[in-house]
Amino acid sequence: MIQRPLRLAILKGDGIGPEVVESAVEVLRKDAKKNLLPLELIYLPIGFQAYNSVGRSLPPSTIEQMKKCDGWILGPLSSGTYPKDDPDYPMASGKIRKAFDLFANLRPIRSIRSKDHQKIDLIIVRENTEDFYPDRNLYKGYGEFWPDENTVLSLRVVTRKACRRIAETAFKIAQSRGEKNLVTAVHKANVLIEGDGLFLEEVRRVAKEYQQIELQEGLVDSVAMHLVMSPEKFDVLVTTNMFGDILSDVAAGTVGGLGLAPSLNSGENYAMAQAVHGSAPDIAGKGIANPSAEILSTSLLLQWLYSRIGDESIHQTALDIEGVTMNVLNSEDNDQFTQDLGGRATTKEFTLKILRHLEK
Ligand code: NAD
Repeated sequence: MIQRPLRLAILKGDGIGPEVVESAVEVLRKDAKKNLLPLELIYLPIGFQAYNSVGRSLPPSTIEQMKKCDGWILGPLSSGTYPKDDPDYPMASGKIRKAFDLFANLRPIRSIRSKDHQKIDLIIVRENTEDFYPDRNLYKGYGEFWPDENTVLSLRVVTRKACRRIAETAFKIAQSRGEKNLVTAVHKANVLIEGDGLFLEEVRRVAKEYQQIELQEGLVDSVAMHLVMSPEKFDVLVTTNMFGDILSDVAAGTVGGLGLAPSLNSGENYAMAQAVHGSAPDIAGKGIANPSAEILSTSLLLQWLYSRIGDESIHQTALDIEGVTMNVLNSEDNDQFTQDLGGRATTKEFTLKILRHLEK
């Protein structure tokens, strides 16, 4: 048994963030108790909550406290909407990914509900630290420039190191899944000849070390179409930052939407649960958000922590949270789902259903 409490930072974020993160924390607390997993949860300010109290959306004290934790659960942030005088404008979550070198964004997409006609089980392995993202692709400064008042230049950064390690992550995952033994490298090397050429070069190099895994290559536009038409054919998709971000929302649409799409940002030393979805301002504060994505992201974080710490109570808690959430989502009673899935349940009612199942 783990000899000390597992220290997790809880960062609620903006919009529906506090609602879905609180659900995930309730489920986590309950199941950790059942599995005798001691927890220490540390709430840290981020986003508008932090800006309104200390004038910035990612206070240095939050970063310092995060360093002392085993992992973090982060809600969505209303990126780009903070006031321009926020020193962390436009995106605190980008700063975190860069500061802690969370280079791999893992986004599994599964047909959770058994009545879904296709059996979809894929994972998008997205590079997380460079590419078209101007907030993280320079050492200092911002990767978009105005050479004159009518022109913007946007910089794209692709490095051999980042391509290599995201490819290694993807092939390792394909091997451990042991499903279709397939990696699809998604690119646009017919246009972005140099950048995506380098990406493909590294993916092909890594593929040679995994003879049992098939490598497919696909242009991002055609992969987007195939994801909509036959998502069940994919296993592991590896791609650069921007393509991965877009494709994971497309893939989420095939299984019921963003409320069901979890994600983990991970590096060598740290990992952060953070659902794929944003702060959903259209439903924020109404108590109707689907917390499944944040709950399942928490399970992903625990699985990652288990791979590092190796304690069975962490493993069991990860499995329970995932299994019970799946069971509840597979119910015949549509009314117990949140509105995005055609039901009438509030976030709290849906969470209560999961908590009750955990008692069984
Ligand atoms: P969004 O993901 O917030 O919402 C898109 C649609 O999906 C909306 O109709 C929303 O109601 C719905 N939705 C999202 N999550 C849901 C959930 N859990 N349950 C039910 N419905 C859900 O995308 P957006 O509206 O384009 O962006 C809103 C804000 O979020 C922007 O400021 C954007 O920059 C930010 N954002 C943040 C993250 C993040 O922090 N990880 C990711 C994407 C967007």
